Amino acid sequence: MGTNLGQKAHNLSCAIHEIGKRIGSIVSQSAFLPTPPWGFQSENEFLNCCIAVDTELSPLQLLHATQDIERQLGRTQKSDGTYHDRIIDIDILLYADLQLRTPALTLPHPHMGERLFMLQPLAEIAPNIVVPGTSKSVAEMLSALAARS
Ligand code: AMP
Repeated sequence: MGTNLGQKAHNLSCAIHEIGKRIGSIVSQSAFLPTPPWGFQSENEFLNCCIAVDTELSPLQLLHATQDIERQLGRTQKSDGTYHDRIIDIDILLYADLQLRTPALTLPHPHMGERLFMLQPLAEIAPNIVVPGTSKSVAEMLSALAARS
């Protein structure tokens, strides 16, 4: 998850609290990591974090729950193909070893291999997981991206 508006650490803490209440127990949590905006210009740097959650929700139920939490925390801007400042953005990077491609949800997250702000916190909590559909662990994917960046 990420935020680049308002009280950023508070925004992440609130999102984690809501996820724990509505989605499932938090198994692990990365540090809060400051990162530059990606894909658009902004003066507001991001704070990112990654958590692992134990949930009974299906992938689509999970997506709807995270979107509800985004709205509850005050996110108004919908995705329109461009990037904007945001109070909170919650992305689903992995769902166990599932691979899925539907209009609403793609798993693993289709852009995680290109985004340090996703791979760095994920590598903190799950370095050895092999990313479904690839032969690379999260740590290996991060090293490959860091070498290119
Ligand atoms: P945004 O919240 O702006 O990052 O955009 C999320 C949009 O991407 C939503 O419309 C989702 O339906 C879609 N989406 C596809 N795959 C994923 C994923 N793995 N995690 C979160 N959103 C996803």
